[in-house]
Amino acid sequence: MTESLTAQCVWQNAHVPTALLLVEDDPAIAHTVVYALQREGFQVDHVLLLREALRRLHEPLARYAALILDLGLPDGNGLDLCRELRRTSNLPIVMLSARGEEMDRVLGLELGADDYLSKPFSPRELCARVRALLRRSALAPPAAPQAVALFEHDVAGARLRLAGQWLKLTRREYGLLRSLLQRPGKVWSREQLLSEVWGDDAQSTDRTVDTHVKTLRAKLRDVRPDLELIVTHRGLGYSLDLPNGSPGVRALA
Ligand code: CA
Repeated sequence: MTESLTAQCVWQNAHVPTALLLVEDDPAIAHTVVYALQREGFQVDHVLLLREALRRLHEPLARYAALILDLGLPDGNGLDLCRELRRTSNLPIVMLSARGEEMDRVLGLELGADDYLSKPFSPRELCARVRALLRRSALAPPAAPQAVALFEHDVAGARLRLAGQWLKLTRREYGLLRSLLQRPGKVWSREQLLSEVWGDDAQSTDRTVDTHVKTLRAKLRDVRPDLELIVTHRGLGYSLDLPNGSPGVRALA
């Protein structure tokens, strides 16, 4: 009785359908799962690759209620995403594992997955597991919203990650990005950036800054082609602009 009431609350407390993210590279399995979950009233976003999943999860407005994650994916292991996610988020995770991935399953649970299913599984069972998981997370004390920062800064390692991907930056590009990230939205003149990043290097000029901004911008676009992160202010300089609502930078311990 109590349980079914709670389940109803889960369904009815939002007018928008509960959104789930499915990461699965097998089209037949994905089709079956999406169909079954949609029939139960869920909205399902389906992606085939880890990097697409990371991108979805890093979107400032991403509000998934749970993640259904296949382990064997063309661009990596679902366990890596699970580990990554648990550093910042309590998002409920159901893992899907193929036959013979017993060890991975155990590891997945140790890394913080909430449940798992071995293939082949019945779509009805998956739906039931997802519902149970959502009921449990609805009963748990509400966690503070944990939007994922767009940039993560490993200060000790002098490296930066954008939307979950490490950037391969030269020393000067790293210095530039680090400076711009100190105050997103602030317009920096070329002279300011020269003095911040190049210090006393007498060889460097305004052109040096422009050249490095160009290569840095290309590297950021490789990861997030949909965002114009470095903005040119004609006659003034450059700023780094974050999308609305993005928490910006998180320092890694
Ligand atoms: Ca697979």
